[in-house]
Amino acid sequence: MTRCFKISDTKICPHCSTKNLVRNGHTKNLKQQFYCKNCHKRCIDYYCNFACHPQTNNSIVRLTKEGLGIRSTAQMLGISTTTLLKRIIDIAKTITQPIISYRKTYEVDEMRTYIRKKQKPIWIVYALDRETKNVISFNIGRRTNKTLNVVLTSLRISKAKSIYTDGLKNYKYLIESNIHICKRFSTNLIERKNLSVRTHLKRLHRKTICFSKSRAILNAVLKIYFWSEFTNTPNNPPAKPRQYLSSIFLKQPSLHVR
Ligand SMILES: [Zn+2]
Repeated sequence: MTRCFKISDTKICPHCSTKNLVRNGHTKNLKQQFYCKNCHKRCIDYYCNFACHPQTNNSIVRLTKEGLGIRSTAQMLGISTTTLLKRIIDIAKTITQPIISYRKTYEVDEMRTYIRKKQKPIWIVYALDRETKNVISFNIGRRTNKTLNVVLTSLRISKAKSIYTDGLKNYKYLIESNIHICKRFSTNLIERKNLSVRTHLKRLHRKTICFSKSRAILNAVLKIYFWSEFTNTPNNPPAKPRQYLSSIFLKQPSLHVR
């Protein structure tokens, strides 16, 4: 939890909210540390990293979508990678799947990637609306009927007009033949989208040492990439590019050019 006041002002424990704090030495950067006699936890006087700034979450979304990985995003924002991973999960929890409209045309495709090691391949299955070019549903898993079905079920509910896919055999059994179209060049749009996704998300780049370590983070990052623009609430508008860049560079004195 982040806070913007000093513990020494209020003497209230941030964990259990009682006034049972006693001083308990200093941290290595000389901040007063406190010990709670009630819940036996420790806390420090104040935190000075940038994670508590209100703009941080917006910056995380922007940098993630611009092809920065975990380490580089953490470096740019001056926060730790642990905080960043927690924040990514938290941001993704607030993002919901967009509302699907009835009777549309979709393209469905799978993209191969891996988690932790190349011997553990995993597929990102997703459906693209041909008209709006928005991703309306996605799922991560092995290339089985179970994984494909999650995406196809949401298309079935939306009474899809027609569904274009590649020649993967599973689709034949999962999609009704009257709306299923499998032709050459019929999935051009989604193949192009694959390229964009691979360019914009660092963990999906080809020929890098960047990769996903956990399925939860991969899922959260994809949610942010596909759907974050749908849930920009008026209280939390995206930061303007110039302001946000200058604010980052001001915080990083080492970036001054000689
Ligand atoms: Zn306490």
